[in-house]
Amino acid sequence: MGQGELRGVVALDGPSGTGKSTVARRLAATLRSGYLDTGAMYRAITLAVLRDGVDPADGAAVLRVAEQAELHIGTDPNHADVRLAGEDVAAEIRGRKVTLAVSAVSAVPRVRELLVARQRQLISEARARIGGIVVEGRDIGTVVVPDAGLKVYLTASADARASRRTKQDSREGRTSTVDATLADVERRDRLDSTRAASPLRPAVDAVEIDTTDLDIRAVLDRLLDIVRDRGLRGTAARSAGR
Ligand code: C5P
Repeated sequence: MGQGELRGVVALDGPSGTGKSTVARRLAATLRSGYLDTGAMYRAITLAVLRDGVDPADGAAVLRVAEQAELHIGTDPNHADVRLAGEDVAAEIRGRKVTLAVSAVSAVPRVRELLVARQRQLISEARARIGGIVVEGRDIGTVVVPDAGLKVYLTASADARASRRTKQDSREGRTSTVDATLADVERRDRLDSTRAASPLRPAVDAVEIDTTDLDIRAVLDRLLDIVRDRGLRGTAARSAGR
């Protein structure tokens, strides 16, 4: 595979329902870079924990599952590839059971250390292979890649985020109501931002974008402008790419 158009790392953080995943995947596809969904890694470990009948609040037992899990995650923005011991779990990790348990699993400091090391390895492989990668999560700009060429923190009102999540659930065949999703979104944000290990917060030098009244295209255009202004778009960039 040849070099893409992104030079370096774009770190995209923020709570759920801000459009983060869609924007990150599209940005990576437009720039022909790699894409890493770190939330999918925490979700896959959570699925392994639940399948083993382990209590997500039992940090030592959760860590044992994480150490033994055969997790594979792809970095192609056009193809979600998440596997546990070879089994495709990309759809199952989006289900309600995993969503309810994932914040407890991701709060275990040694599980984070394990996954952050894997993330850094995947990032450096993608950089060596195609020049750049868009990485999305909660702690990418603060912990995983503090020297990323661009750090972005997306926000949106809780109502907007709940309504987007409900639409996404319905598109993907899961039933939910806006009220139930709002409660879930607020609960998960509270847990993710108050945990001791790598809490969700913007990096001091992150560009903050409130997506409440913006559609995906508008957010993507803003990010492409910033990527270009910062000189992160390679000289091979074709103007037709935008
Ligand atoms: O992004 P997504 O909603 O799939 O993330 C699922 C959960 O994984 C988050 O609620 C959070 O608890 C955890 N997570 C994390 N750090 C990351 C990415 C996700 O703690 N970098």
